[in-house]
Amino acid sequence: MSESLATVSYIGATILFILSLGGLSHPETSRRGNLYGMIGMALAVLATIFGPRVTSGGYAWIIGSMVVGGSIGIYAARVVKMTQMPELVALMHSLVGLAACLVGFANYIDPAAVANLSHAEKAIHEIEIYVGILIGAVTFSGSIIAFGKLSGKIGGKPLLLPGRHMMNLVGLLIVIYFGWHFMHTESVSAGMVPLIVMTVIALLFGIHMVMAIGGADMPVVVSMLNSYSGWAAAATGFMLNNDLLIVTGALVGSSGAILSYIMCRAMNRNFISVIAGGFGTGGGTPASAPGGEAQPAGEVTAVSAVETAELLREARNVIIVPGYGMAVAQAQHTVYEITQYLREQGINVRFGIHPVAGRMPGHMNVLLAEARVPYDIVMEMDELNADFPDTDVAMVIGANDIVNPAAQEDPNSPIAGMPVLEVWKAKTSIVMKRSMASGYAGVDNPLFYKENNRMLFGDAKKMLEEVFVALKS
Ligand code: NDP
Repeated sequence: MSESLATVSYIGATILFILSLGGLSHPETSRRGNLYGMIGMALAVLATIFGPRVTSGGYAWIIGSMVVGGSIGIYAARVVKMTQMPELVALMHSLVGLAACLVGFANYIDPAAVANLSHAEKAIHEIEIYVGILIGAVTFSGSIIAFGKLSGKIGGKPLLLPGRHMMNLVGLLIVIYFGWHFMHTESVSAGMVPLIVMTVIALLFGIHMVMAIGGADMPVVVSMLNSYSGWAAAATGFMLNNDLLIVTGALVGSSGAILSYIMCRAMNRNFISVIAGGFGTGGGTPASAPGGEAQPAGEVTAVSAVETAELLREARNVIIVPGYGMAVAQAQHTVYEITQYLREQGINVRFGIHPVAGRMPGHMNVLLAEARVPYDIVMEMDELNADFPDTDVAMVIGANDIVNPAAQEDPNSPIAGMPVLEVWKAKTSIVMKRSMASGYAGVDNPLFYKENNRMLFGDAKKMLEEVFVALKS
């Protein structure tokens, strides 16, 4: 393939990636967005393999790597459950970071990479390597910790070391100092020392940054690491002189940054304070381990599936609030059947989606779309929060943190200030979950003890099936 044809293919792939991002911004167009992304990626890979920079000797390596990587990818895609997607994404971000580090080191020790470079070009090349490895190492170790936290292998409680801000600052100063050193070394072996020191500090910083973040702030961290992985890919593109990688990395980096901003706004959090850590450490009610059994803070009123069906049958306005538990139980199809049935009886049913419900952005929208719930009854939190006082039944399916009134009522709560769906303002709220365990943020939920709240204990899918049977009988 000639240089110009490869360039045209790269431009085509870039346009497809932009169209893909546009498509992914709405559930109705997301399938098309995915398709654009897949075609764009296929075009990009083919143009790279058959492009002028790959010699025939490299094909065996490329095909071998694609077979190994492709097999792992296909295997992972087949075995990973929907609820494990967030941790898989975190793991993939870590691989992008690792790739940036490896490419950086390989580039640095490759004499061909600096042959024929002027003094200024060599300096720019070294900055690319230093910054690329820095971003890559932070992304790598931070994403590994995020993977651990999302999969529950590492506790969600923030690790707050004494003098942590000072430690980060000192780390930054050392990185700058060694960067200056790196730029002024004469040989590759001498340059390795500052490069390795910086890499170790960056790895430690990535670990420390994510360890210091409390459970409820994890959505912001996930999108932030998504953004970092984009910048790491862009840095790799600079090191490899690959324009498409630079553009694609920048697209991922900036869209991840926008998502982080949206997440911060949704959580009523300041981006800098998220990075600095500490949400979930309000000094008041301590956060317990996610899913931990909370201390009972009152009496709860349990209901049966038959009583729930009765409440639904008598309602005129119903709002369903799905959360992570719906994803665990895979209850979305039963939710859809109940919704259909209630709508046929003339009951107004709508869904309230919190921006951080579940374990990844858009988690609930994906599940509801999969179950064919019409988009026009799926509303954002801000669109229907004011409607709860006029709602007869607010049915909470496997959600906890996103409906926790402590966020508004208890200034000392670890999640104080986080906007939540105000289900307790409905005439009756019904919370469907298996036990009194806390949610991801590890905070007790006073909603359960409110007078107008009912608890329907059990697996969401099983209980909803029973409710459906009772509704129809
Ligand atoms: P939560 O984690 O707060 O609560 C989920 C609830 O579901 C649990 O209390 C659990 O209770 C219940 N549950 C689990 N399995 C089942 C089941 N099979 N049937 C019925 N119930 C079940 O989830 P929310 O969606 O309310 O809130 C999301 C949380 O995750 C927030 O804290 C958010 O910050 C965090 N987060 C979100 C991310 C995102 O991008 N969206 C990323 C990372 C974290 P029980 O065990 O008693 O059944």
